[in-house]
Amino acid sequence: MLCGMSVVTRIAPSPTGDPHVGTAYIGLFNHTLARQGGGKFILRVEDTDRNRYVPDSEKRIFQMMAWLGLTPDESPLQGGPNGPYRQSERFDLYGDYARRLVASGHAYYAFETAEELTALRAAAQAAGHVIAVPSRDLDPAAAQTRVEAGEAAVIRLRVPAAGETVVNDLLRDPIHFQNREIDDKVLLKADGFPTYHLANVVDDHLMGVTHVVRAEEWITSTPIHVLLYRAFGWHEPVFAHMPLLRNADKSKISKRKNPTSVEWYQQQGFLPEAMLNFLATMGWTHPDGLEVFDLEEFGRVFRLQDVTLGGPVFDQAKLRWYNGKYLREVLSADEVARRLHAFLAGQKTELPYDDYFRAVVRLMTPRLEVFSEFLEKTPYFWSETYPVTEKAQAAIDGARDLLPELAATLKNVPTFDAAGIKAAFAAFAEQKGLKLGKVMPPVRAAVAGTMESPDLPELLATLGRDRVVSRIVKMGS
Ligand code: GLU
Repeated sequence: MLCGMSVVTRIAPSPTGDPHVGTAYIGLFNHTLARQGGGKFILRVEDTDRNRYVPDSEKRIFQMMAWLGLTPDESPLQGGPNGPYRQSERFDLYGDYARRLVASGHAYYAFETAEELTALRAAAQAAGHVIAVPSRDLDPAAAQTRVEAGEAAVIRLRVPAAGETVVNDLLRDPIHFQNREIDDKVLLKADGFPTYHLANVVDDHLMGVTHVVRAEEWITSTPIHVLLYRAFGWHEPVFAHMPLLRNADKSKISKRKNPTSVEWYQQQGFLPEAMLNFLATMGWTHPDGLEVFDLEEFGRVFRLQDVTLGGPVFDQAKLRWYNGKYLREVLSADEVARRLHAFLAGQKTELPYDDYFRAVVRLMTPRLEVFSEFLEKTPYFWSETYPVTEKAQAAIDGARDLLPELAATLKNVPTFDAAGIKAAFAAFAEQKGLKLGKVMPPVRAAVAGTMESPDLPELLATLGRDRVVSRIVKMGS
């Protein structure tokens, strides 16, 4: 499908807030398509809406893309031959192109005031048709004269009065829009700011974008874009509108029901690989039924036309499952330790990166889904003042007579590793005529303060003889 032409894709985020999982999702598919086609992936910042502009948002979008490894080939950061890549830096261009459409009759100057428009809109709504803008019928030369005399005017698209505009979407049957139902959209505002429609189409064209892959919510804008491509006499790109990510109740993904900021997932200690793998399964399934696969494998088998539209649910539990898979089955133990250490440092917890740290991580990895759980599950590894649960306290209290003897036994284990410790427990239990289930829980309670911990001999071996013995002595006295 993509053969023969060089693929140019893009994302065009608006810097209006937190870096959104939807941007990451659309970014993943665009990045992959470009890589497959030996083409380019552009990141363009659509920052013309000054009311919604959030100053640090752009930087955070770049950081998100870098974290995910979805590096664009061209962007405000990278630069490139089609720059600038911020719409606010391309201003003059849009006015020129809008006036071109006025000259060719595809657009017109409109002089209606805000109050007039409110009235026109109300009338249109009552009559059940789109707004009829009186300026549409002005003599173009007369309108031109008024503009030159300094009268405030916007430029509107002249949508054909009849007929239909067909949107071809790679993932859908052709979508037919009746022209009489399409507004004469504003292209250029009176202050010279372009609207989304104009700036988006002009830039996609000038940047050589061949595939516009974006969220479903833009479908209703697409007939306007198609009309613009035609009005300019430009070749239109391939459109593919991706399904919206959804909450569990199938509503559009929203902050209230699901964290939508990628930074939140980063702070929770999700791995970027797991996030990408999870996002790749939103609306797409691996042809061999593989669940766990990396970006390279995705690029090898992904075909855009295989995307399905049935409202993929952004299921936190599934994402956590993926993350656990990556921790246990994909990354090496050393890699997990290295990443976790970096994660903790980022959270202002500096632990020495040593054998002890790596051993604790190895022990805890089977019990972790995300890094943020690590410290809360392991206080007893880092301090002698760890919390003791009620259950653990009861286990300690019930074994006051045994604990000193157990401390002595463990103190004398010849080799303080899991096997040696296990053997010592067995011998102790046998000698006392007790079940292991009587002997081990109080030790666990004493050294960890909780009944939920890793395998006891391994836990003790990791803590080391000195900590273990002194804790049992202290707790048992
Ligand atoms: N600026 C739009 C956004 O914020 C771009 C939509 C598009 O990809 O055309 O998503």
